[in-house]
Amino acid sequence: MILSPRLASVSVLVFLSCLAVTALHAGDSSAGDAQAADWVVVVHGGAGAVTPGTYEPDDEAGMRADLAAALEAAGRILAEGGNSLDAVTEAVRRLEDSPHFNAGRGAVFTADARNELDASIMLGSTGAAGAVAGVQGVRNPILAARAVMERSPHVMLSGSGAEAFARDAGLAFMPVEWFHTERRRRALEAIREDTASLVPPVPAHGTVGAVAIDAAGVLAAATSTGGMTNKRWGRIGDSPIIGAGTWADERCAVSATGWGEYYIRAVAAYDICARLAYLDESLDTAARYVVLERIPAMGGDGGVIALDRAGNVSMPFNTAGMARGMARADGLVEVALFKDE
Ligand code: ASP
Repeated sequence: MILSPRLASVSVLVFLSCLAVTALHAGDSSAGDAQAADWVVVVHGGAGAVTPGTYEPDDEAGMRADLAAALEAAGRILAEGGNSLDAVTEAVRRLEDSPHFNAGRGAVFTADARNELDASIMLGSTGAAGAVAGVQGVRNPILAARAVMERSPHVMLSGSGAEAFARDAGLAFMPVEWFHTERRRRALEAIREDTASLVPPVPAHGTVGAVAIDAAGVLAAATSTGGMTNKRWGRIGDSPIIGAGTWADERCAVSATGWGEYYIRAVAAYDICARLAYLDESLDTAARYVVLERIPAMGGDGGVIALDRAGNVSMPFNTAGMARGMARADGLVEVALFKDE
C-alpha cells in the first residue's frame, strides 16, 4: 500500500505508540529522563468513560490517528526551532478540526442543540493569555483565543462579541451543520430520553488540550471544548478560564479536562503550578494531589496534562480513561486512550 508522506508518518507514530506506552499509565506519569529532551509536547483528547468498547473501531482508530497527527504537527514545529505557543496552537487547531473530539467540529450539543465553544491559551514566559467563551460558527476557537491574546487588550471575549472579534480578525467561520456529528446528536437524544429533566449536564469526553516546552525552555498551554452535553445555553466551563482549565508560567503548564464546574472551583490548573512554586512539590505530586484527591473530594472528576520546565510530564486522571499522547525531541512518541495502556 502506498501511503502519502503525511499518512505514512502518522502510521509510524501510531506504530511507535504501540511500542512505548508505559509512561502513559494513569498516574505513572513521569516522562523518564527529562533532561534528554529539549522539547516536549503533550496533548489530551478528553477524560471520561474512555474504555475499550466505548467506541466504534473506526472512531477509536480515528482518535488515535488524530492525536498522533496533532503530535506530529506540533513536534515538527518544535523540531524546526519553532516556539511552544505555535506548537500548542497547531496541536489544538488540528484536534478542533477532527470530528472525533469535543472541540470545534464534533463538539457536544447544548440542551437546545447548539454548539457553543470555549477555548483559551497562555504563554508561560510572559503570562500573556487569551480566551473565548460561548462562540458559535468559529471554525477554530483556539485561533480566536490566540487573537484575543495578541490583538486585543483583553483576556476573554464571549458570545457575539467574541464572534465579531473573530470575524474582524479574519478567522474562518463555518455553517452550524459543519460542527454537527451523529455521535454527539445521539448523546443529546439519549439524555433527553432519560425521562428526568433532572439529568445533569454530562461531562463528555473529548475536550482537547496541549502543553509544550520549546528548545528555549518556554512553556505554553492551550485548551478547547464544546463543554458538556445538555449544558444550559450560556454555560461556561473551565476550559476558557485562565487558571481553571489552562495555565502556563515559567515553571509549569497545564491543560485540564473533566467536570468543569469543579475545575473552576478548584482553580485546578493554577493550583498545580502554584504548588510547585509555593510548596516546592514535584509536578507529579502536585498534579496527582489536585486530580486524584482534591477534585474527587469535592465530587468532581477528570484529568490533566501537565509539563514542567525540566520536561517532566504528569497526566493523572480519575476517570475510566483519558485520550492522551506525548512526543519528545529524543524521538519518543506515545498515544493512549485507556487506563491500562
Ligand atoms: N472541562 C470541560 C467543560 O466542563 C468538559 C470536558 O473536559 O469534558 O466544559
